[in-house]
Amino acid sequence: MSTNRPGSMSRREFVVGSAVAGIGMTIARAAAEPVDEPQAWFDRPMRWAQLTLVENDPGRYDRGFWLDYFRRTHADAACLSAGGVVAYYPTAIPLHHRSAWMGDGDPFGDLLEGCRALGMVVIARTDPHAAHQDVYDAHPDWIAVDADGHRRRHWASPELWVTCALGPYNFEFMTQVHREIATRYAVDGIFGNRWSGSGMCYCEHCQRNFQIASGLALPRTTDPRDPARRAYLAWHEQRLFDVWRLWDREIRAIRPHARFIANAGGGALSPLDMKTVGELSDILFADRQARQGLMPLWANGKNAKEYRAALGSKPIGGIFSVGIEEPYRWKDSVQTEAELRAWVAEGTANGLRPWFTKFSGTLHDRRWLARVERIYAWHHRVEPYLRNERPLARVALVYSQQTATFYGADRARAKVEDHTLGFYHALVEARVPFEMVHDRLLDPERLRAFKLLILPNIACLSNQQCDQLRRFVQDGGGLVATFETSLYDERGDHRADFGLADLFGARFGGRVEGPMQNSYLRLERDPAGPAHPLLDGLDDAPRIINGVWRVEAAATGALASRPLTLIPSYPDLPMEMVYPRVERTDAPQVFLREIGRGRVAYFPWDIDRVFWEVMSADHGRLLANAVQWAANEERPVTVSGPGLVDVTIWRQKQSLTVHLVNLTNPMMIKGPLRELLPLGPQRVRVKLPAGTKPSKVTLLVAELAPHADESSGYLEVTVPSILDHEVVAIDLS
Ligand SMILES: [Zn+2]
Repeated sequence: MSTNRPGSMSRREFVVGSAVAGIGMTIARAAAEPVDEPQAWFDRPMRWAQLTLVENDPGRYDRGFWLDYFRRTHADAACLSAGGVVAYYPTAIPLHHRSAWMGDGDPFGDLLEGCRALGMVVIARTDPHAAHQDVYDAHPDWIAVDADGHRRRHWASPELWVTCALGPYNFEFMTQVHREIATRYAVDGIFGNRWSGSGMCYCEHCQRNFQIASGLALPRTTDPRDPARRAYLAWHEQRLFDVWRLWDREIRAIRPHARFIANAGGGALSPLDMKTVGELSDILFADRQARQGLMPLWANGKNAKEYRAALGSKPIGGIFSVGIEEPYRWKDSVQTEAELRAWVAEGTANGLRPWFTKFSGTLHDRRWLARVERIYAWHHRVEPYLRNERPLARVALVYSQQTATFYGADRARAKVEDHTLGFYHALVEARVPFEMVHDRLLDPERLRAFKLLILPNIACLSNQQCDQLRRFVQDGGGLVATFETSLYDERGDHRADFGLADLFGARFGGRVEGPMQNSYLRLERDPAGPAHPLLDGLDDAPRIINGVWRVEAAATGALASRPLTLIPSYPDLPMEMVYPRVERTDAPQVFLREIGRGRVAYFPWDIDRVFWEVMSADHGRLLANAVQWAANEERPVTVSGPGLVDVTIWRQKQSLTVHLVNLTNPMMIKGPLRELLPLGPQRVRVKLPAGTKPSKVTLLVAELAPHADESSGYLEVTVPSILDHEVVAIDLS
């Protein structure tokens, strides 16, 4: 690349530089040999293409068109339909249903060969969740059984049956299928879709195997306090990891570089332990294909962070649908370009490698093709700047599957996930770059990169986890925690006091109050001195609204300050009765402590959850201020300007990037977007890594080189405008 100084590169030079990089890619692709070398392939693909054939595609769909589309989109890896409910190759396995349209052909093999000629990585897709009538007739015990003892017909295709994921259908039949695919075809892996079952199964195998494992009958309740339910949760997870390991082992025995890649993973609400998922996976894909309902745009970035918390620097693909993903499942629909671009930009900014998925090789609506091609073309052009080595965020939001399972249970979305969503949104709004951290991965090595951990109602924490957090603070880290954090142990049993009482400087008062109507917080300021930084931006507010649930908590020692105190709930009707009965209390509603170099802020109420529900700007301000105060350092990047922008910061081998995703839109909360509206100028101030000098600054979307000011270890540029996404790329020498 050129050695231009910051600010001096023209748009034309940049384009020429990109073209040279493009030629290198073309040469690399020209090799038509199968990419079957023993070394790891996982990190190579940057753009994925998935074509899921429908049963009547063979003989109808245009293979040449698809291969040409893969080439035009610079897709360097493909996921292709192979087997499971329908086989797209001439399988020899009895009951493995061949597409009725394929005749003597081999649609999977033909596509694979075409992709290999393009130099693409190829993984085969199987889907074992449904089976045909002949499977039912030959092996009725392979079919899933509901709680009433009935074998389950498929809910969407009633001529099919739902299979049991934990019995011989997966362990024996699908193992044969996976072996056959890996033996006959030079695949790099097998991607298992819907491999983990479709709800609880009461078949004879599940009954017997659970009885042998636990001595108990299968539970009829979802209450995690029920001993059978507890045992079931552990057994169910173990069975799924067993079948995952089995398939992976069998595939590797045939092709050592290939893997079984499970469609699995997610955040606090996902059923399989993400720590184990991360250990089992060399590569993984986040299958959140698009927004639905009230999902915010940043949900795609959140997905990336949740997976990265478990996988570290291993590659993570972001599966996105070209169609609308509402419960009515219009699988042949097409989204607007604005919506597609914004969704993929959020994934890219947060480290996902895009993977478009299209079901049906015969297209009923072609409008998405050019849209995805434009997104992929840009991605390909700036690829070196998207090969991230690590994020540079200093703040991390903790998520906890054990809290969702044992404390949240049937209400985990409201009791657990809504706290996370609220804090997540507050961080995005405050433009804080941040990561997520899994609560079973709190070892010092993992936490070294972070200055601040956020515990959004992480209710269930073991003594060991509390010790890890204690050590983090002793080493100078900060904590912000809310509501019932650490009030339960890892199995959901209530503790007598907070596990983190010493860090909070608060003890449990014995009661949780709520839902509270019409309660407030008094903002207390020392008339003699400056207000506490927690109240920044709330200078003219004497009081603000309280949350809805609060933990009664009392200080264990003298408080240096108590900027928020409780104004208890008072009647909200009849209107004549609406006056505070108690104007002022000394009950602190935030506990602020300094422990050595570490700082801790504990809100004994549901500020994050209520922020998600109500979105009071005052609550957002408090959360942002608490993060700033407890982190107690300048951020690695500060972005000032109008609008709502998701900010991420990354290090590559020779460069540093700051991604800015424009989430400002009249429909920013409830999609889908109709139009992208450009944001006004943003001033970006970036901390340069120690010992580096910037050699060039580029805006990768605008394709121009802005003027850059450098002083005392920081670099400042102005981004004139952001439509959907901008990347400030700083080459380092
Ligand atoms: Zn079963």
